[in-house]
Amino acid sequence: MSSLPGAAWDPPPPPATAPSCSSAQLDKLIEAADRTKLRAYADYSKFRVGAALLAADGSIFSGCNVENSSYGLTMCAERVAVFTAVAAGVTSFRAVVVTHDAKGTYVYPCGACRQVLSEFGDMDVYCVSPDGKVARSRLSQLLPQAFSKAELDKVALERSATP
Ligand SMILES: [Zn+2]
Repeated sequence: MSSLPGAAWDPPPPPATAPSCSSAQLDKLIEAADRTKLRAYADYSKFRVGAALLAADGSIFSGCNVENSSYGLTMCAERVAVFTAVAAGVTSFRAVVVTHDAKGTYVYPCGACRQVLSEFGDMDVYCVSPDGKVARSRLSQLLPQAFSKAELDKVALERSATP
């Protein structure tokens, strides 16, 4: 079976930038994501996901997916991790790790999570397969030309310049 270009099991080339965390930190992130994945509320999809964010100060915040019977209100693990960190007063991150149970594949953050993560700057995205393979990308690779507060600032500037 051939794989589709850009499919989740066909990771993009690794970025030219140096990894933003040490291998010891990466191990801790994977452990935190895997541990939190076990708490996933995935009664409908049975697709458990864990995420762990490495903050600039070295602290780690994790999340799991939380599904809902309405389906549309389901929240991804990555956003749960981001919201947990923000609620703790942390908004600067170096890396995010995503783990799941689907052997032989990488699972990347969905579009909504990429946008939410990009609010807090560029970072490494480590996608970890259950068999221990790790694919590193930069968030800016996965979401080029992300919408940002810079666009809002441009509009505000134009409004203030208008007589
Ligand atoms: Zn998502």
